[in-house]
Amino acid sequence: MSVSISAKIQNEAVVQQLGTTQFSLFVSLFFVAFYNSSFFGSIFGMVDYTSLKGVIFIANISLVLWLFTFIIISLITLPYVVKILFPILFITAACVAYFMDTYGVVIHRLMIQNVMETDFSETESLMNIHLILYVIALGVLPSLLIVKMNISYGSVKSECWRKVKFVAIAFIACLALIMSMSMDYASFFRNHKNIRQMANPLNFIYAGLSYATTTNSAIEVKPIENDARLSPFGKAHTKPTLFILVVGETARADHFGVNGYARNTTPLLAQQNIINFPNVISCGTETAVSVPCMFSVLGHNNYSDSKAKSQEGLLDVIHHAGIDVLWRDNNSSCKGTCNRVTYEDMQHLQIPELCNKRECFDEVLLHSLDEKVASVSGSKIIVLHQKGSHGPDYFDRYPQNKEFFTPVCKTNQLQHCTKEEVINAFDNTIRYTDYFLNRAIEWLKTKNSQYDTALIYLSDHGESLGENNLYLHGMPYSIAPKEQKQVPFFLWLSKDYEKANSINSDCLKNNTANSYSQDNLFHTVLGMLNVQTQVYKPVLDIIKPCRANPIR
Ligand SMILES: [Zn+2]
Repeated sequence: MSVSISAKIQNEAVVQQLGTTQFSLFVSLFFVAFYNSSFFGSIFGMVDYTSLKGVIFIANISLVLWLFTFIIISLITLPYVVKILFPILFITAACVAYFMDTYGVVIHRLMIQNVMETDFSETESLMNIHLILYVIALGVLPSLLIVKMNISYGSVKSECWRKVKFVAIAFIACLALIMSMSMDYASFFRNHKNIRQMANPLNFIYAGLSYATTTNSAIEVKPIENDARLSPFGKAHTKPTLFILVVGETARADHFGVNGYARNTTPLLAQQNIINFPNVISCGTETAVSVPCMFSVLGHNNYSDSKAKSQEGLLDVIHHAGIDVLWRDNNSSCKGTCNRVTYEDMQHLQIPELCNKRECFDEVLLHSLDEKVASVSGSKIIVLHQKGSHGPDYFDRYPQNKEFFTPVCKTNQLQHCTKEEVINAFDNTIRYTDYFLNRAIEWLKTKNSQYDTALIYLSDHGESLGENNLYLHGMPYSIAPKEQKQVPFFLWLSKDYEKANSINSDCLKNNTANSYSQDNLFHTVLGMLNVQTQVYKPVLDIIKPCRANPIR
């Protein structure tokens, strides 16, 4: 009898069974500790860890990450599933950790889409010894451990009850932790929206589910016209049109020298013969609203994300009229507005004089544009999507030799800088945009013998710079301050363009004091490119009243 009891005790000690809750707690802690160096690296870069409050916030957010990970792990800790799903999870998390640590990427739905659309040769070119070491250390070894591990499951009823209980406790604890520092969380996540896309493995589980569900319920994009074509007047031009549309980022109108700002932030544009409109209002207060709205026929009053995503926009109409469209992006993306035209992601090019490890300055948008233009005949529109004045790290938006106003705020934690330092950094971004736009205009001038050239610049939204203690942008539109909604907007037209299109620029200059909005962009661009279609509304075309000939 005593022999059999001691044998049983020995046997239990060897097998070391783990309950499902202990298993989930242990695995989630393992994920937090070993797969999230990018996440914590960013947190330490954003939070002042030398202050007590900073330390408490970091501890709080670490616990929240652990609890959220525990919730997800707990839900998928099921008999049979564990030994198949967890090795996949570990190996994927190992790859994700490698790409985040090495390339600073964050994981979102479009990234999953890119991965799904990547072919083998591209995957092969990403392989290297470091990736293999990550996969062995963080993927294969923990997977082997899991496969060998003995997890004890209770009855179906007791397992379900245990999951409900512990998930509820973890969820309430998360809420309590977040509520205890709600102000800090609110300002932190407003400034660092991307941080959740660094939480491994939550980021790729969420992005994967998001990709799977949106792919299954793919939105059908409907055309908004079927009649777009170049007008007979446009066809009769002796030269094709070369049109640049610069989509600005976070530039606010009242910080432009040409709009009467006390500082000379636009010395070069002031020398160009631009037609400047100082009273222009944006459609939204953040990129994800303003950019799709600018290119949509809906206008501010009818705009919604789902409506805009389910129908074609300005660039489709132009493309249907036979005009070549190229979107060059130095921002996060074109927000769906260029999905059916040529797109070039310029922000990760490795051009030493224009790019650093993290990003490229906006001049990259003009890189080898000569060759691009030469490769396609006929009229064309090139959209240049700037990084512009995107904050809070304004000081990173321009090269060091373009730092004009000093001293500048050199941190993305604006609350640690004086108001003057924040404004100096922001104004330097506007001065750099002035330099960039001037270069774009000068480049267009070199094409005047081949093309009638024109340029429009319009920012997506403005920015708060400490007025009423508000910073950045993205306030709900109805309560957003004017600083977030008033955007710079101007036209530059070459003499040949004006002549070919019978435009009276004096008339245009007389109209510049009128109030306009981003709703005018769609129709003004169609008019400027002589695109004839039923969706064109002449009343919203800013140039129409100053065009002598009746083109339609
Ligand atoms: Zn924006």
